[in-house]
Amino acid sequence: MKVGVATESASGETRVALVPETVRRLCSLGWEVLVQKGAGAKSYIRDAEYVDAGATLMDSAADVVKCDVFLSVSAPSVKLIEQLPRGSTLLALLDPMRSAALLSLLAQQHVNAIAMELIPRITRAQSMDVLSSQATVAGYRAVLLAAAGSSRFFPMLMTAAGTIAPAHVLVLGAGVAGLQAIATARRLGAVVQGFDIRPAVKEQVESLGAQWVGVQVSGSETAAGYAKETTTAEQQRLQDHLSKIVSEADVVITTAQVPGKLAPVLITKSMVERMRPGAVIVDLAADSGGNCELTRSGQQVDASGVTIIGPVNLAAGLPTHASKMYSRNLATLLQHLKTDEGIKLDLTDEIVGVCCVTHAGKVRVHDGRVPTPEPASVAAGV
Ligand code: NAD
Repeated sequence: MKVGVATESASGETRVALVPETVRRLCSLGWEVLVQKGAGAKSYIRDAEYVDAGATLMDSAADVVKCDVFLSVSAPSVKLIEQLPRGSTLLALLDPMRSAALLSLLAQQHVNAIAMELIPRITRAQSMDVLSSQATVAGYRAVLLAAAGSSRFFPMLMTAAGTIAPAHVLVLGAGVAGLQAIATARRLGAVVQGFDIRPAVKEQVESLGAQWVGVQVSGSETAAGYAKETTTAEQQRLQDHLSKIVSEADVVITTAQVPGKLAPVLITKSMVERMRPGAVIVDLAADSGGNCELTRSGQQVDASGVTIIGPVNLAAGLPTHASKMYSRNLATLLQHLKTDEGIKLDLTDEIVGVCCVTHAGKVRVHDGRVPTPEPASVAAGV
């Protein structure tokens, strides 16, 4: 079985789908791993390290795609997809709810595609969960961006020039990225507050040494543990609650998201106007509309002395570890799919049935709905 990895083509992407550690892991299964020369360069991995791990280096992406399983961080180019062999499997972040044309092309090419962002958030699949691994990186980097953009120290300092009070950091949304942001800001010595609408996370916020300033919104959580979209009235209530807390913060990191929906606006323009000059907002929801009304995706905005940073693809800024974590997620999924002959996509499986978005020439995502595992009887053609 041949597994291929090419240089990522998306602009700004620095990550790579396999690192030498995971190449070694796949080679130990008896699989052949093809890596395009230079594929790891932006993650600071030399070609020689891939060779030492057992990979075969190829000159071009066109050589690499002649494989059974193609691994990628973001979706490969149309040109590469057209060269993938019929019946091959692609594992990548495919943004399936917003990529109808891409999925049609994959189905037309008879490429079976796994959208890594659809790996279900269940205990069994935790080690394959790329959303969590990359959100961990994003939460950490958000705090570093904020600290670099802040006019203040994060820790309390007692110096010959007197005592400096610690920075006040407010984290909105305490999912994977938010909890990592809280932990990182605490490690830097800031006084941290955490806010969410899911009461279940209160204990996690407090266990990291932050103060809980969340608001209980009844029925705010889905069975899968995600937040539900808030109504206009609830959103107003959240903004009213946050107004004073936000105005007192030196740094606000926002991470509030609702899967498949626009991010909730938690910080309005008038709330920004009441913030201290020199304060910083880092909005991790920038790509899905932003949690702050003034956020511009991919840009830094100065709003009367308040800096609002709307980063996209923060994980790409920490490529060594982001690639390592992503590739471990991929390798674990591949081991789950492994059979004596290669890999098998069992659509009745609770993991594969959800994240497999094209199969046997058909698209499995319709009307923005996540696929569901097929009952065994359907899969058997009964
Ligand atoms: P996410 O990125 O979808 O959202 C981030 C946070 O924003 C969430 O905590 C959500 O409650 C919060 N949020 C949404 N709307 C809000 C609003 N109006 N105001 C304030 N906060 C708001 O979430 P995520 O980080 O991907 O994960 C969410 C949850 O999924 C986790 O906390 C956990 O329960 C679950 N999860 C489970 C597993 C697992 O079991 N394998 C793995 C990862 C995550």
